[in-house]
Amino acid sequence: MRILFLGAPGAGKGTQCKRLAKQCQLPHLASGDLLREAVQQGTVAGIRAKQFMDEGKLVPDEVLINMFRDKLTSPACGKGFILDGFPRNLAQAQALNVLLAELNQKLDVVINLEVDEKLLLERLTGRRICSNKACNQPFHLSFRKPKQENVCDVCGSALMHRSDDKAELVGPRLKTYHDETEPLLTFYADGGKSGANGPLKNIDGSSSEEEIFAQLLQAVPCSSNK
Ligand code: AMP
Repeated sequence: MRILFLGAPGAGKGTQCKRLAKQCQLPHLASGDLLREAVQQGTVAGIRAKQFMDEGKLVPDEVLINMFRDKLTSPACGKGFILDGFPRNLAQAQALNVLLAELNQKLDVVINLEVDEKLLLERLTGRRICSNKACNQPFHLSFRKPKQENVCDVCGSALMHRSDDKAELVGPRLKTYHDETEPLLTFYADGGKSGANGPLKNIDGSSSEEEIFAQLLQAVPCSSNK
């Protein structure tokens, strides 16, 4: 299955995609995680991306398009994938269509996680992430507290506050979402025009993690959850 997730920063894409990737046994390609990894490793793409990420702005399209071209043409994605955070504007969505057409593939499902602005702000500013890259487990100061303050329940590493989740960058990131990413809802609303197999499916992302996941399993008929 080829699945694309849309939704604002803080909509819960990362948490749900991780669970779905496990359930459907598909690679989870999260653009933000891939970029942070590139920054940490000091790759050419990472060096280029850092300044944009630090300012809560979108990284130039060609960095993302090249990154996802490498991923989607790799054998690991042969049976499908879950895209999370890419595409984030129309140019990227069009580039993804071209790439998928070259590979003779189509998106099977496009999911939009809907969450209102007030909750997005609360989720982003209270979010904490496990600092161990291999774990990357998300927590929240109010909604998903770790058992021990500042320590990951899963692997025991320290939790961190992503620099772009700090209050001063959350506003600009949400503005970028509205200006650049939200138009993708129209692009994917009619799957035919966008080259996807079906229409966009909206899911209420404001309920509990379990409820959202249950709705997702209805919307995404991957073989492992049939
Ligand atoms: P995220 O973890 O998805 O919130 O992404 C963190 C940051 O990475 C964003 O604020 C952008 O600076 C950058 N980023 C992630 N995905 C993209 C994308 N598809 N296009 C451009 N920049 C991106």
